[in-house]
Amino acid sequence: MSGLFGIYGHPDAKGLIGRGMFALQHRGDDSAGIAISNGKKLIVHKGFGPVKLVLSKEKTKTFHGNMALGQVQDGFCGIEEIEPVYVSHLGQEIAIVFNGGFKNADVLRKSLWKKGTIFRTNSEAEIILHLLAQTREKDLSKALVKVLSRQVEGGYSLILMTQDKMIAVRDQAGIRPLCSGRLNESYVFASETSALKTIGATRIKKIIPGQIITVSQKGQENYAINSNHKAKLSHCIFELIYYSLPSSIFANEEVSVFQRRAGIKLAQESFIPPADLIMSTPDSANFNALGFSKQAGIPIDIGLIRNHATQPGEMLKDKFSITESVVRGKRIILVDDSFVQGFTMRTIIAMLRKAGAKEIHLRIASPPVIKSSCYCGVQFPSQKKLIASTKTAEEIREFIGADTLKFLSIGGLLSCVKCPNDFCIACFAGDHSIIP
Ligand code: SF4
Repeated sequence: MSGLFGIYGHPDAKGLIGRGMFALQHRGDDSAGIAISNGKKLIVHKGFGPVKLVLSKEKTKTFHGNMALGQVQDGFCGIEEIEPVYVSHLGQEIAIVFNGGFKNADVLRKSLWKKGTIFRTNSEAEIILHLLAQTREKDLSKALVKVLSRQVEGGYSLILMTQDKMIAVRDQAGIRPLCSGRLNESYVFASETSALKTIGATRIKKIIPGQIITVSQKGQENYAINSNHKAKLSHCIFELIYYSLPSSIFANEEVSVFQRRAGIKLAQESFIPPADLIMSTPDSANFNALGFSKQAGIPIDIGLIRNHATQPGEMLKDKFSITESVVRGKRIILVDDSFVQGFTMRTIIAMLRKAGAKEIHLRIASPPVIKSSCYCGVQFPSQKKLIASTKTAEEIREFIGADTLKFLSIGGLLSCVKCPNDFCIACFAGDHSIIP
């Protein structure tokens, strides 16, 4: 998963891109990269680790410009895979950041190879750049319409920049998020509304699925990937469950509202054992636990503390600490947002038992993930590592060491969103053919 940020037409583009990317750090902290333009030339800078390390004052002191784009990314890769991907073509320098994936990435790559294309990365961003070059179209917005309407299938958002122009695009099904706003006269784009609010942007709105927004000296111009065809919406429900900050708006609703509702629904669907307290797995399940606590009529307390200072690759048990005074001798209902492999939860439950918890009843505010290989930018582990694809609920309970275990049903999950038909649930339903 990754987070994108772009700013056009601001004298402090360098400072603001750093702040915007920092506000998206929860979407990935293994690497970060930016491109900045002074109107004549792009400078690209990238590195491993969180934003504050990669974009330190020391490392960026020679950068100047009034437009910039950047990406934070999860997943270990080589330095050339860190975005932006950058090329020079027909007198234009082009940098691109991309969040998502293509269903037909392999087909596109093979067909480009056959035409003699040399790739430097495995990224979809680079595929787009090669496809754009092949259109022979100098107007990048028009080239994007040709490429995205005819050749590419998938779920994505992207921001692209030349020396003097910025373009933001969201896929036709609205699978991945992207929004826009204004900072006085400047234009800003980000994966999440919360990042735009952080830098003080106003007039914040989602980019309509299938929309291409170009900003340049001419102002804003809008294009459609395909104006003749309205695709079925298919927002990634994982954006609500886990990826987006609770303060962000996704699919016309604040994420925290959905998460609280999912906690209430989970409590309605679950057997609720006699318990002393509700606890969340911080921070992503906090609102789920609040909803659960309200519905169950059992008080909520803070027994697990997340250490935000840990670095990527840190040991799991170093990421959490336990307030023993809260958990010792208690019957606990622990609420988490999602369940993929089970290792994190097994470690947490072992830590809680060691700290003296008497009973631990685990409740998960989404169904178990049973299908990997989401091609829309989420890197799930391989199918055999998804615990729910090989084990029964009782075997999972035994594996993680909980006293009882209950998941929110697919129907329950969908009852928590305003328009259930507008969401992708393929990794829960087990059928990736249902992603458009
Ligand atoms: S398969 Fe899952 S992770 Fe992928 S887009 Fe659909 S809901 Fe999101």
